[in-house]
Amino acid sequence: MRTTVGIIGAGPAGLLLARLLHNAGIDSVVLESRDRAYVEQRQRAGILEQGTVDVLRAAGAGGRMDREGLRHDGIELRFARERHRVDFPALTGGSSVMVYAQTEVCKDLIALQIEEGGPLLFEAEALAVEGAESERPRVRFRREGREGREDVLECDYVVGCDGFWGVARRAIPAEHSRVFERTYPFGWLGILADVPPSHDELVYARHDRGFALLSMRSPNVSRLYLQVPEGMDAGSWADEEIWDELERRLETADGWSLERGAITSKSVTPMRSHVHEPMRYGRLFLAGDAAHIVPPTGAKGLNLAVGDVVTFARALVHLEETGSAERLDAYSETCLRRVWQAERFSYDMTTLLHRAPDATPFEDRVQLARLRRIATSRAAGTDLAEGYTGFPLD
Ligand SMILES: Cc1cc2nc3c(=O)[nH]c(=O)nc-3n(C[C@H](O)[C@H](O)[C@H](O)COP(=O)(O)OP(=O)(O)OC[C@H]3O[C@@H](n4cnc5c(N)ncnc54)[C@H](O)[C@@H]3O)c2cc1C
Repeated sequence: MRTTVGIIGAGPAGLLLARLLHNAGIDSVVLESRDRAYVEQRQRAGILEQGTVDVLRAAGAGGRMDREGLRHDGIELRFARERHRVDFPALTGGSSVMVYAQTEVCKDLIALQIEEGGPLLFEAEALAVEGAESERPRVRFRREGREGREDVLECDYVVGCDGFWGVARRAIPAEHSRVFERTYPFGWLGILADVPPSHDELVYARHDRGFALLSMRSPNVSRLYLQVPEGMDAGSWADEEIWDELERRLETADGWSLERGAITSKSVTPMRSHVHEPMRYGRLFLAGDAAHIVPPTGAKGLNLAVGDVVTFARALVHLEETGSAERLDAYSETCLRRVWQAERFSYDMTTLLHRAPDATPFEDRVQLARLRRIATSRAAGTDLAEGYTGFPLD
């Protein structure tokens, strides 16, 4: 099998890249180790930055998002039982975000790819990327049900969109790699519940017992999170215990109340930052979680993945149109500038809102002072609003 761009992974990064290349008349093949149902149901992100929304629309993948997504013009910060709204359009000159689940973005892109795009092979597991430093890199892969027989995808370029646990990153020799990491001593217990959200915008709450987030997937489905100790098992909390704890951490002094409903899913997400530099080795490019992870507090993971593949697609189109590889050569540097802004923003949001197990009373006071500053200073509020609605793509 042969193609121009071999894409490993059909998460948001791989699927969107295939769409962007198809629109530009460049052929690609997507290899995805899981089946279609699994990819379409994997619960993860749900906040699309303004730039991501614009990219999906321009790619012809924004129709259902515009009909069913929920435009949000702000978030609420809660601390010391007070509530403060951060108004995005007022602080940023018009930007907002869209609540539209990652599962739905993937479903839309898969449907388009199958209808109009190049091959998208499910249950096709990439085993290794070979010859990344040569003119003809290859992906060795295995398809389900072929008695373990291996195939080879020959490409001009390989883009590793295979997430944090993928194989693409491993093809970069250790002497060419540098890894920057931070693990937080807590995780997020996330639930999906069949109940209309108790507030019409996301609520980020700082509490002495730990962080809580009220979020949503649709007008009838709530997504809520609790800060829990690192490594905790999702099953160790009963449903009513989760609701009790959410109620405690989200409580306000003005009588706001939390609606409860049937919990349909529970999972624990670790909190970590990870950046692999560079994001390119020869003709192998890394995009999305394959290259970097952020803690979910800033809602940046999916949006960074979109930024990477837009940068790659634009650079390849530039090469085809002008013969200049300048943008492709600058891929890693261009992406990393944005990645580090997102890492910084996610770090700020995480340390602003979570309570470390060893937090001192001094640190508690500083945290509250930082929150009060955002609530009362236009400059501090603008910094948060600009970071949340997203950093420019170029
Ligand atoms: C549990 C969890 C919860 C999250 N919650 C949030 C959130 O609330 N907010 C937020 O902003 N972000 C969240 N994120 C982050 C966000 O979902 C990711 O940043 C986003 O999915 C990145 O997209 P991606 O396409 O780069 O990688 P992924 O979505 O991980 O996609 C990678 C794809 O590659 C496939 N793959 C892996 N290995 C191979 C192989 N060898 N061969 C072929 N295919 C392979 C995988 O099956 C997968 O489909 C969460 C992440 C996780 C893991």
